[in-house]
Amino acid sequence: MISPAIAIIGAGPAGCYAADQLSRKLADARIDVFDRLPTPYGLVRGGVAPDHQGTKNIVRQFERTFQRPNVRFLGHVEIGRDLEFAELAEAYDATVVAIGALEDRALGIAGEQLTGVVGSGRFVSWYNGIPGAEDLSPLLDARSVAVVGNGNVALDIVRLLGKRREDLLASDMARPALEAIAAAPLTDLWLIGRRGPAEASFTSAELSELGELARVSIVLEGAAPEASAQAIADPAAAKVSAKNLEILSGFASSPADRPVRLHLLFNAAPQSVAGEGRAERLRLARTLSEGGQATLLDETFEIPAELVIGAIGYRSKAIPGLPFDDRKGIVTNVDGRVTPGIYACGWCRRGPQGVIPANRADALAVADLVMADLAASTAQGRPGPTAIDPLLRQRAVEVVDFAGWKRIDAAETGRAEGRPREKITLMQELLSVANAT
Ligand code: NAP
Repeated sequence: MISPAIAIIGAGPAGCYAADQLSRKLADARIDVFDRLPTPYGLVRGGVAPDHQGTKNIVRQFERTFQRPNVRFLGHVEIGRDLEFAELAEAYDATVVAIGALEDRALGIAGEQLTGVVGSGRFVSWYNGIPGAEDLSPLLDARSVAVVGNGNVALDIVRLLGKRREDLLASDMARPALEAIAAAPLTDLWLIGRRGPAEASFTSAELSELGELARVSIVLEGAAPEASAQAIADPAAAKVSAKNLEILSGFASSPADRPVRLHLLFNAAPQSVAGEGRAERLRLARTLSEGGQATLLDETFEIPAELVIGAIGYRSKAIPGLPFDDRKGIVTNVDGRVTPGIYACGWCRRGPQGVIPANRADALAVADLVMADLAASTAQGRPGPTAIDPLLRQRAVEVVDFAGWKRIDAAETGRAEGRPREKITLMQELLSVANAT
């Protein structure tokens, strides 16, 4: 049997888990993992909060995957820019799309286009030092910041904004963001849920971390959290909800005299942002949680907010030539199958839900599909790298291989001075470090 060639688009957790499984099970396969960035690991590097270093330990496993002889990392290759999707699909026996979900969902309210209104994806990319991410430092001249959403991403953002400079130095937050956040004249942070505390989607360990912020006083806005307890059918969700309410009640005794007030505001849905050329105020409508929905009430009110961050979920980015469900913001697929020979896994398959290990199950399932289809096919043995490498050379794409990434890694950790790493945030610098031999 001729060895199959498999392409994986995206070197984030879903792509890495798929590469890991396929490279173990198909020792003779040639597996190429493409990523638009010169750095692997997707949201482990670019999404996970920089102060959650423990979560990043998973890269040790992925590192071993890339060291297998049948796996290559082709960083700084963007499908749709450097290679057409059709070229890839033609060259490989199987193509697994694992591009995650990078685009912000819009709040869909008036004033959203004002300077000072950003999505969590833009904000998180900035503080995690993704090359090309917009510099948001100028917006950190805000005294009052509103974070809309009650998921773990919203918690990450308020927690990091609430930290002191010395706390941030213990993280691998990109230096420009760290300095901007440390210098911000912040006095008020708002965490805003359109439903009640019982229906928040954040998890308890993450919620309790808010209570550890040394410069933050927590202010519970509105009714006592326990009053909002709801009958939740799913026992696991009910347990998390009860624990969250207990933690929130504990915040009632938070010290009141600290420099930053973190207002926890529930049952408030954003209506509009207003300001002269820049966000100044966020208008909200009170809501009632009913049957799993937020019903708007007539009462509206405003809070000051020179920076409004929508942390309300993500969409995947369409690749020309790849079937895309624009309404759901995911790759069109049925249980991971897109078209014959094309598969999707991770957030681009099922939407932006679940922690990193959830992508493992997804990747194992897609690897099973790939292996079953390859076993049933008589036509495998496509050229893979033999077709793609010359195209990349002709187009003068500066591909970064795994050894190149390790040079970046060594440079970042080598200059860290006690921090976990001091990230390189400029594309040109990443490429020159990767290609220095
Ligand atoms: P999420 O958990 O789906 O939370 C999205 C939040 O946005 C929900 O509270 C939702 O409210 C709210 N929302 C949606 N549309 C809204 C609108 N138009 N106006 C106001 N609020 C709106 O998403 P996420 O925070 O982006 O997290 C994505 C996934 O990554 C989650 O599975 C999360 O647990 C995971 N993650 C985990 C960690 C960690 O483990 N530390 C860290 C970060 C992310 P409704 O509930 O009312 O729809």
